[in-house]
Amino acid sequence: MKKAFLLLFLLTTLLRSVWAAETSCQIVVAGSGAAGLAAALFAGEAGADVILLEATHQLGGNTTSGGVNFPGIFHAWGKQIIDGPVWKLIEECVELDGGKMPDFSIVPDRHWKHQVRINPALFVLLAEEALQKRNVKIRYYETPTALEPTPDGWIVRTAAMGENRVIRCRQIIDCTGNAALCAMAGAERMREEETQPGTFNYFLTLDNEIKPTREQLAEWRKRAEEAVRKGELLPEDIRGNVWDAFSAERSSSFNYVFNADNSTAESRTDTNLRGRAAALRVLRFARSLPGLENARLAFFPPEVGVRETWRVRGEIVISCADYTSGKVWDDSLAFAYYPVDLHVNASGVAPAQLTEGVLPTIPLRALLPAGVENMLAAGRCLSSDRLANSGLRVQGASMAGGQAAAAAAVIAVREGTSPRKASLQAMKTLLRELGAIVPE
Ligand SMILES: Cc1cc2nc3c(=O)[nH]c(=O)nc-3n(C[C@H](O)[C@H](O)[C@H](O)COP(=O)(O)OP(=O)(O)OC[C@H]3O[C@@H](n4cnc5c(N)ncnc54)[C@H](O)[C@@H]3O)c2cc1C
Repeated sequence: MKKAFLLLFLLTTLLRSVWAAETSCQIVVAGSGAAGLAAALFAGEAGADVILLEATHQLGGNTTSGGVNFPGIFHAWGKQIIDGPVWKLIEECVELDGGKMPDFSIVPDRHWKHQVRINPALFVLLAEEALQKRNVKIRYYETPTALEPTPDGWIVRTAAMGENRVIRCRQIIDCTGNAALCAMAGAERMREEETQPGTFNYFLTLDNEIKPTREQLAEWRKRAEEAVRKGELLPEDIRGNVWDAFSAERSSSFNYVFNADNSTAESRTDTNLRGRAAALRVLRFARSLPGLENARLAFFPPEVGVRETWRVRGEIVISCADYTSGKVWDDSLAFAYYPVDLHVNASGVAPAQLTEGVLPTIPLRALLPAGVENMLAAGRCLSSDRLANSGLRVQGASMAGGQAAAAAAVIAVREGTSPRKASLQAMKTLLRELGAIVPE
């Protein structure tokens, strides 16, 4: 009897380890940040059967979980350059929140004035609704663990809350921010030894309304310098004045978390632990200041916002010269717009504005991992050198690249081929049909 139980136990364990729930779809999108969300939405709108895998609990990546809820930039030099289903979602979000769009008819003196402030919680709700309306299957808490190429696509092995699963699909769009699936497929990735700092977009509040005087601001700055000297604060904890932490808008570049990296579980954990520890230091410091004794922690987003980790090496690596000259390739599928914006050290960044009239573009080949079929990479992990990426990584460009990747994947599925061989003209037509703007 005992032996029979033992045998049964061993058999069940063995079966569980080899058996994995299996599903199939046409396109797997991995990662639901600006790029993945836009890609899944576009592919769903085009009628494709899509599964969207997201490692965390909500859509949006940096846009929502990283507290960077001011996507940009969709307009340049007086006209709209990025449009499509994801832009409609942003418009709906602003409207339902009673918010206000910037005035796009003027060319602002500072580029960030054309970023759109959105309510991140509402954006998650609307994005979930929009994806489900288009039959995109959202699968939170699920990450790919291995890929096997098949003659016409992929077997994607995933782990979902301890359960092994298998997805058979035709195309993969890697929007993980790290080109994680590209690496699994054997593609080359690029990164510098040190990453740009991240930022933890938390903010503090006071029970009483105050408007600090110039003297108070100077005193708080002096006290912060002393606290840094004594080791109570790190120099990167406060960039500017501690008062900046008291506004959701001002706190968006309030601090740095050096070597922020979310490409592995360890580095992502470390980044978040260090960002949160800094918030605690700053709260304690703020409460020690005359005038800020009632400071309280009002909000922190789920994650530290991370600017860069890995980028894939594609068939074209967009260079800074390509970017700043607004190079148009015959396979350019989307526009981008942002200054070259590399954050390198404690003093921060002096964005290099683009020359008037310049509009960088994203070619299909920068979304195609070199040497890998049936896979695209979009968002901040697209193929570009570091300086070009410092402009291409922003949300408008990530969304535009996500839509372009989705169009390529959809056309490849329709034509029964890989994005590399599929009709470029059909991709451009599809993008335009669904409202996206394609370089001529
Ligand atoms: C502090 C800061 C300030 C910024 N300022 C601006 C600004 O002013 N304007 C602007 O437009 N942009 C700004 N950006 C840039 C912009 O927010 C990001 O570059 C952009 O959101 C990147 O989008 P993404 O989709 O490529 O990647 P991410 O937003 O990083 O999304 C990747 C998603 O993939 C998921 N994921 C990762 N690995 C896996 C896996 N293995 N399986 C499944 N899911 C996975 C992640 O959980 C995440 O949801 C800023 C960024 C930071 C950090």
